[in-house]
Amino acid sequence: MSRQAIFIDLQGTLGGEPLGDILNFSFYDFSIKAIKLLNKNSLLVFIITNQSHIAKGYLTMEQYENCVKELIHELELRGAKVDGIYCCPHGRGDGCDCKKPLPGLVKQAQKDYDIDLSKSYVVGDMGCTDMILAKNIGAKGILVRTGVGEGSLNEYRHTWQDVTANYVANNILDAVNWILSKKF
Ligand SMILES: [Mg+2]
Ligand SMILES: [Zn+2]
Repeated sequence: MSRQAIFIDLQGTLGGEPLGDILNFSFYDFSIKAIKLLNKNSLLVFIITNQSHIAKGYLTMEQYENCVKELIHELELRGAKVDGIYCCPHGRGDGCDCKKPLPGLVKQAQKDYDIDLSKSYVVGDMGCTDMILAKNIGAKGILVRTGVGEGSLNEYRHTWQDVTANYVANNILDAVNWILSKKF
């Protein structure tokens, strides 16, 4: 049976990046709780992230992969699990099909799992990538106010003006509680 999946953006949604890149990423405490709630309810959890710093040469693939290993390890230690982490390493001019809001990362997840996109969600802090992606794949979109979320709702609203979030959440935990309230 096709399963419901939650595609979650990384930076600004699951944690902060005080110095501007994934090397300094740390999870918000409530993110761990949110992922555990999804695990407990048997929803698939994916992290999908644009890392154009790789294309720009600010971050090597090896650094990125080490970071991801550490993130997975931390989640494991804290009792939370993600089913996959998918990354677009490309830049704007590379002509790839995976840079959000393009659907390539979601398509990769679909190769690995049987997913019902119409019952799935994209949760993120950036309207012009995360909310447009939700629309592009026929899923529901939840914008979180953390990260650049407030900016997305205000001065950058024009960058995703044709799209509406299905829900605006204070943070990822609020988003997950909303998703679970729809499920039952
Ligand atoms: Mg983000
Ligand atoms: Zn890409």
